[in-house]
Amino acid sequence: MSEVINVEEIFASKVFTRATMRERLPKNVYKEVIRVMDNGGELSPSAADVVAKAMKDWAVENGATHYTHWFQPLTGITAEKHDSFVSHPDESGKMIMEFSGKELIKGEPDASSFPSGGLRATFEARGYTAWDITSPAFLKEDATGAILCIPTAFCSYKGEALDKKTPLLRSMEAISEQALRIVKLFGNTEAKKVVAGVGAEQEYFLIDREKYLQRPDLIFSGRTLFGAPAPKGQELEDHYFGTIRERVGAYMKDLNVELWKLGVTAKTQHNEVAPAQHELAPIYETANIAVDHNQLVMETMKKVAGRHGLTCLLHEKPFAGVNGSGKHNNWSLGTDNGVNLLDPGDTPNENIQFLLVLACIIKAVDVHADLLRQSASDVGNDHRLGANEAPPAIISVFLGEQLEDVVSQLVETGEAAHVLQGGKLETGVSTLPDFTKDATDRNRTSPFAFTGNKFEFRMVGSSDSIASPNTILNAIVAEAFCEAADILEKADDFDLAVHDLIKEYLTVHQRIIFNGDGYSDAWVAEAKRRGLPNIKSMIEAVDTLTTEKSVSLFEKFGIFTKAELESRREVLYETYAKTINIEALAMIDMASKQFIPAVVNYTRLLADTVIAVKEAGADASAQTDILKEVSQKLVEMKEALKELERVETEAGTMENAKEQAFYYKDAVRTAMEKLRKPVDEAEMLVDKKVWPVPTYGDLIFEV
Ligand code: ADP
Ligand code: MG
Repeated sequence: MSEVINVEEIFASKVFTRATMRERLPKNVYKEVIRVMDNGGELSPSAADVVAKAMKDWAVENGATHYTHWFQPLTGITAEKHDSFVSHPDESGKMIMEFSGKELIKGEPDASSFPSGGLRATFEARGYTAWDITSPAFLKEDATGAILCIPTAFCSYKGEALDKKTPLLRSMEAISEQALRIVKLFGNTEAKKVVAGVGAEQEYFLIDREKYLQRPDLIFSGRTLFGAPAPKGQELEDHYFGTIRERVGAYMKDLNVELWKLGVTAKTQHNEVAPAQHELAPIYETANIAVDHNQLVMETMKKVAGRHGLTCLLHEKPFAGVNGSGKHNNWSLGTDNGVNLLDPGDTPNENIQFLLVLACIIKAVDVHADLLRQSASDVGNDHRLGANEAPPAIISVFLGEQLEDVVSQLVETGEAAHVLQGGKLETGVSTLPDFTKDATDRNRTSPFAFTGNKFEFRMVGSSDSIASPNTILNAIVAEAFCEAADILEKADDFDLAVHDLIKEYLTVHQRIIFNGDGYSDAWVAEAKRRGLPNIKSMIEAVDTLTTEKSVSLFEKFGIFTKAELESRREVLYETYAKTINIEALAMIDMASKQFIPAVVNYTRLLADTVIAVKEAGADASAQTDILKEVSQKLVEMKEALKELERVETEAGTMENAKEQAFYYKDAVRTAMEKLRKPVDEAEMLVDKKVWPVPTYGDLIFEV
């Protein structure tokens, strides 16, 4: 019998929730906090002091000794610098733990070493962290003890965003303001806020930690840089939704408990398509909290793995030849009085507000397909998007049969008189209930799919922060709402105007809608005919951030300044170059110190065998053939290694970040592939006992 977990009791037990605040704060202060959380503005200094003290008392009672401003620099992960609550002792030598409102609200880490893309020179190191009151503080517990984590935004001395959180918060304000204009037009005057709701499904791999530690490529780059395929891959589709093995199950259980304590609504868990691949999905929540929680999910996944002798790999493509990992970013918009703007209802053809919202989103995605593509790119994701696996690098929108039918009626006749309904699902088994089918089937190949009452953006990489995709989604849709509201607010005949506008948007932007097979070559050709961008790699997407179109979008809604966009561009090029550089160095290291010596030894063994067999008067032709084949691989390895070393050195001499990044993509990555090939082939030829690292079979089938 396993121990009983009282989920209701442990849920959010490590979070300074609204309920905790209500319990611990004087009524007037509590009210002030809630007002600021819900409507924006600033806490008065006296209220901040009261909140800080209550937060500290709560944290200390729960074992905390330190606090940290927890933030999300442009590295894409989180950062923390711990300060204890220790204060100066009084004359008697007694020390009282302290935490002030000022310390709660503002921090000043010496942040000169975070990437800033030129926004700050190192001598202007000042960076400030500012409390994001809308995301609850929580306690992180590990070997360091319990640390009170205060979610913050991170800005420079001049107020420029140095992080992923600030632009996201700005985009949430923009979409709220513009979406409110839309719902007002339809008579909803009660709503005060429109909130982007986000649910991120997280895929990951689990492998044995002992084996992980024997693979420098996994240690340094998070993915295997070498490795011949195992005899079995994912072709039998027996892992997807398969029974969860004991060791993995114990891990999942532990992971859920840790996440629940942190207030993360871990909901769904299952085995994914590739061997050793799994998924966890929480229940959706307000975008910035979802972003924070996804960081906690990733961090906790790694931490808990260690306790089970496992390692969690979040890289987008840890193993060649089997599926990589992504993160489906489910996104919708809801008013604070309970209306999901993406809910079509039973008769979407009559739901004019829904049709306008849909038309605006289609327009936004078409106009800014390049930006959306950029927002889902990172170095690891280049192995997925546009490579031979899901989803394609071309952005398109999947609507499903029902909505596609409504859209084509609207485009053709300006009216949508009827709507396809789901009908009954008949199983043909009398003891099974018949139930109503969804009006729409699923399409797993679409990068941006309507799934009932939300859009599912499936391009995001598994290791990436979901801040950028949601910032971009909010921004582009805010712009479309704004343009629609500008027209409709002035219209004399609203009904006619909205009708015309929906028809116009759907007609002009229909090209972005695609319901077919997104993996097929035919779609690539078709998309080209339609004029849709097909941006094949992360660095080819970078410059979309600073086009005139993008700068004007972001500046109009106060989400990024031009300087902030340029800094991100710089950081992205640098990150790409640095990441590939690490991979190349790891390959050089493994090839020269592990694979080549192992194969050299093996050839000696074979040569000795050939001589011995011949001396014994037997036929040594088989051994001789193997020796020749293996020696040939050795020659190829040596040559490829030399070439990789050459381009690697060349790359190091380049000063222009963009030029360097492209050189890494074109020259260095090609040389890396050329080195991998003979090594993987040699792996298939030599005795497993002499192979210096665990194989794919060892790594993904023996967890
Ligand atoms: P599937 O794997 O079928 O796509 P899951 O149930 O695994 O679906 O995940 C769906 C995700 O979408 C969950 O995180 C869920 O909370 C989230 N979600 C559901 N409804 C909405 C909504 N209205 N807005 C945003 N996210 C949503
Ligand atoms: Mg999904």
